[in-house]
Amino acid sequence: MITSQNLVAVFLAIAVAIEKDKDRLSELDGVIGDADHGVTMSIGFTAVKNALAGLDLAEAEPATVFNTAAKSFLKAVGASSGPLYATAFMRAGAAVKGRSELDRDAMVEAFQAMARGIQDRGKAERGDKTMVDAWLPASEALGEAAGKDATLTECFEAAAKAAAEGAEATKAMVASKGRASRLGERSLGHMDPGAASTALIVQTMAEEVAK
Ligand code: ADP
Ligand code: MG
Ligand code: MG
Repeated sequence: MITSQNLVAVFLAIAVAIEKDKDRLSELDGVIGDADHGVTMSIGFTAVKNALAGLDLAEAEPATVFNTAAKSFLKAVGASSGPLYATAFMRAGAAVKGRSELDRDAMVEAFQAMARGIQDRGKAERGDKTMVDAWLPASEALGEAAGKDATLTECFEAAAKAAAEGAEATKAMVASKGRASRLGERSLGHMDPGAASTALIVQTMAEEVAK
């Protein structure tokens, strides 16, 4: 079972992972975007970390953790990833509203709600070379694993693998959404920074739920 406390630990671990990979993410964005993706994600998750520190975890339910993350991320991040992740966290909160702890199926629902939220908000399709190309395969792999009765840990391992493969696959795509779309064919051969950070985020989630 994932408690509010566990969920906060997941967000904190993501903040640490993003901080560590901040330069690589900005470098990736420097090739096909405006070189700020590591910085924007770092600003966002630092804001989330600070906002979550103000929660009373004896009282706050998992939905409150997600909603607090959503609000702080949106407020802190001006870049396109701001509303995308804010929507993701808000949708996850709505998916688990009223639950005091999250079992495997609730975690799967929350994750899939995040992926759908990002897609709804950004209107990117698979193959547009965005974070959706990592979030969607991850969400599908998670659902598939859950359908085969895999454990929570196994489900997230499958999602992390799919997110990494999805990010890798963006190298062969031409961007048609977001800033990188201005490059057209010149975006070919480079990994999408948003998909790269997604792979990192899902990998971190997998490591945390395995604990
Ligand atoms: P900005 O482009 O405003 O500087 P970031 O650098 O933080 O924002 O994020 C860029 C990433 O956002 C891209 O690599 C891509 O994955 C993602 N992105 C941009 N537009 C969209 C969209 N419409 N839908 C989904 N993801 C998007
Ligand atoms: Mg950018
Ligand atoms: Mg920017």
